[in-house]
Amino acid sequence: MERYIDEVKRNLQTIAAKLTEQAREWYPEATIRFATVSYRDHDKDIQYERTGLPDKLCVAVQPFSEDASIIENSLASLKAASGDDFAEAVEDALSILPELPWNPVAAKCVIWIGDACCHGWVKKVKSSGPLQTLKGLDFFPEGCPCGVVWEDALDGCRTMGIHIAACHTLPSTKNMSAVQKSLICVNRLFFNKVADRTSGRYIPLTDAKLLPMITLNHALTVLDVMRLQEAVALVAVSRGADLGQIAHVTGRQGFIHKIINELGYKTRKSVSDGKSLRLSFEEVTLQDINDAVTGMRKFMRACLARPCEEPVGQAEELLHLFIAAIDILTLQ
Ligand SMILES: [Zn+2]
Repeated sequence: MERYIDEVKRNLQTIAAKLTEQAREWYPEATIRFATVSYRDHDKDIQYERTGLPDKLCVAVQPFSEDASIIENSLASLKAASGDDFAEAVEDALSILPELPWNPVAAKCVIWIGDACCHGWVKKVKSSGPLQTLKGLDFFPEGCPCGVVWEDALDGCRTMGIHIAACHTLPSTKNMSAVQKSLICVNRLFFNKVADRTSGRYIPLTDAKLLPMITLNHALTVLDVMRLQEAVALVAVSRGADLGQIAHVTGRQGFIHKIINELGYKTRKSVSDGKSLRLSFEEVTLQDINDAVTGMRKFMRACLARPCEEPVGQAEELLHLFIAAIDILTLQ
């Protein structure tokens, strides 16, 4: 794990500079903020209370900062270590993500680097194969001893529009036993689940050198998701009269889809062949339009759920634009 942490640390300044440059092409005022959430496992000798809150002893947060060197320093103190069992307190770290002070208007992405699933997952999936009788895989087989529910944490991320790239670090499969291979499958299922539930990506990782590129690509594709939402909203508002003539919601989305493609709009998709990564520009699909409308709703909910922190500036403009667009797209 250390080589992955080192690779991120070495390249963070470059990633920050490239992201800022790219984001400012579209949003001149854009700033990039980083935070880290690091975790270790629960202690099997402690009697935990099921408070539903994460274990303070096994999760550490370096708050958001525009200064990449602060994040580099926080990474410098990280030491990779594995617990006594196979599962880790991943659920506690995931539950922190929606609680971070995200800017509602920002493109929100998380790069999760790990090699193990959360507590409770092994029991859920090891119904067959060589793992069935194996003991000691998970000291908390019923799930987090603090009562943190990973599904709730991911629902929180999805509601906030946080997209997780689940980077599953893999050992070499040479001379690997059947049990080890089964364990990797168990983890793969969990990493996929995390990516699917947050509209993120599952990324199997054997080469640490790919990590900076993965981080950059993931952030850019998430930024594209936001840009598409804005483009869809602008088309909806400017073509409100035409859309008013279309009776069904699906028909209206189809109309928007046609206009967006006529405008030559493309979105980036990160393409990987396992050894290398590149970004390809692809035509916007009807599903992308549907996702953009869902994303607009999430954005509106995120803004409105924080009445104490009124959205200002660009967030307020976007909020009004999205409210108008959703009205046009959904009114019968
Ligand atoms: Zn836990």
